Amino acid sequence: MSSHYDLVVIGAGSGGVRAARMASTYGAKVAIIEEYRLGGTCVIRGCVPKKLFVLASRFPEQFDVAQSFGWSFGEPKFDWATLLANKNKEIDRLENIYGNILDGAKVETIRDRGVVTGPNSVRLAKAQQELTADRILVATGGRPFVPNIPGAEMGITSNEAFHLEKLPKRILVNGGGYIAVEFAGIFAGLGVETTLLYRGDQILRGFDADVREIVAEQMKARGVEIKLNSEITRMDRCASGNIDVSFSTDEVVDFGEVMFATGRVPNIEGLGLEKADVNLNAGRAIHVDAYSQTSCPSVYAVGDITNRVALTPVAIREGAAFAETVYNNNPTAVDHSIIPTAVFSEPEIGTVGLTEHDAGSSHAKINVYISTFRPMQNTLTARPEKMMFKLITDGETDKVLGVHIVGPTSGEMIQMVGIAVSMGATKADFDRTIAVHPTAAEELVTLKSPTYQLENGIRLA
Ligand code: NDP
Repeated sequence: MSSHYDLVVIGAGSGGVRAARMASTYGAKVAIIEEYRLGGTCVIRGCVPKKLFVLASRFPEQFDVAQSFGWSFGEPKFDWATLLANKNKEIDRLENIYGNILDGAKVETIRDRGVVTGPNSVRLAKAQQELTADRILVATGGRPFVPNIPGAEMGITSNEAFHLEKLPKRILVNGGGYIAVEFAGIFAGLGVETTLLYRGDQILRGFDADVREIVAEQMKARGVEIKLNSEITRMDRCASGNIDVSFSTDEVVDFGEVMFATGRVPNIEGLGLEKADVNLNAGRAIHVDAYSQTSCPSVYAVGDITNRVALTPVAIREGAAFAETVYNNNPTAVDHSIIPTAVFSEPEIGTVGLTEHDAGSSHAKINVYISTFRPMQNTLTARPEKMMFKLITDGETDKVLGVHIVGPTSGEMIQMVGIAVSMGATKADFDRTIAVHPTAAEELVTLKSPTYQLENGIRLA
C-alpha cells in the first residue's frame, strides 16, 4: 500500500463510491476506506433490503385481489427465515458488485477505519498507518437516532430490523417519517400487529396535507393502529419477555419489539474533523459550500454527513459533482431545489415540487387539481383503497409547481413526472400530452378544471 494519494475517501457508501470512481477515471490516484461493508446504508441496511421487504409485504393483498380475477389456491404461508436468507444473498451480491466496480476503476479499497489527523492526513485505526492526500472526502453517512428514554436500549432501529431472528406478534414503530411509515407497512403486511406512534397531529410532516391524510387513512384500513400526539415515556421488560411501553397518555401496552424510526444523525464521532478545523452546522453535520468543500480547503464532504437532503440519489449526485468540479475542471453544484422522491409505504407515495401549503404561501395564485379513484385492479374486488393524483400549478404562469401521487406504482410515475417538472413544464404541456390508456398515470394529463384555487394563501369558494 502506497501512502500518498491525490484523494482519500472515507466511507464507501453511495456518495463516496461515486466520487472515488469518477475521480479515478479522471486520472486521480484514489483510496477509499471503509470499516463496515461496501455499499453504505442504502445497499446494506437501507433502501435496497427495505424495498425487498416491501415487495414481500405486498403479496397478501395480491393474493386477495387475485381471487376476484378467478384464481384460487391453498392458504398462502410466509417464512421470514427464507426472506432473510434470500435478502442476505442479494445484498452480498450487490456488495461484490461494488467491490468490482471500485477495482475496475482502479480505486484502492482499504478495509479499516479512517480518522482525519490533519488537513492532508488520515490515520488507519487498525493498520496503525498514516496516509497522506492532497484532498480528503468525508462520506461517512448517518445512523439512526434513538431518543433518550429509560429502557430505550431494549428497542431496535432499522439496522436491527433487517436481521430480526423472528417476527414479533406485536410491534410498536415510533416515528412518523419515511422509515416509520415504510416499516409499519412492511410489518403489517407480513402479519405483525403494528402500532405506529407519532408525537404530532399527523404523520409525514413536510408532505402535502392531502397525502398525509390519505396515507394515514389507508394505513389504518390495512390494519395499522396509528397513535398520534403521544410519546414513549419509559420501557420495561415484562415477565413474558415482551416490553411494557408507557406512553405520555398514561397508558401502558406490551409489545414484542419496539422500533425507533425517530430520525438519523450524521456519523461524525471520532472522525478527527477538529484536527483539520472542519466546521459543523447546527445539526452537527459537516458544513459545506455549493461544491461540497468544507471550511478546510482540502477537505470535502458529500451525502448524509452534510445533512442537505438525506437521499441516496442526492449523495450520488453530490459525489459526482465533487469529482467533476475538482478532477475534471468543470465546477458543478447540485441543484437541491426539485427532488422527486418516493415513500414505499402502503399505500406508496410519489412526490415532486411544492406542497399546496408551500405553493400557496410563495405564490399569489395557485390552482389545485385533485383526482381520486379506485385503481383498476381493485374494481373487481370489494377493496376500497383509492389512488390520489394532485397537481398544483401557478395561477399566473401555468407552471406545474408540485405533483403528489398516492397509490400503486406512484414511485415509478414520479420519476418521469420529475423530468417534466424540473424542465419547468406548464399545465398546458401536461394537457397537450396524449394519454396512455387505460393507465392510472393518464390522470396526470386529463385533469380538466381546478378542484379549487388559492389566492394569497386563501382558498376561494
Ligand atoms: P425522518 O426525519 O423522515 O422522520 C423522523 C421521525 O421521527 C419524525 O416523524 C419525527 O417527528 C420523529 N422524531 C424525531 N425525534 C423524535 C423524538 N425525540 N421523539 C419522538 N419522535 C421523534 O427520519 P427517518 O428516520 O424516517 O428517515 C431519515 C431520512 O432517510 C429521511 O428523512 C429520508 O431523507 C431518508 N429516507 C428516505 C427513504 C426513501 O426515499 N424512500 C426511505 C427511508 C429513509 P417530527 O416530524 O415531529 O419531527
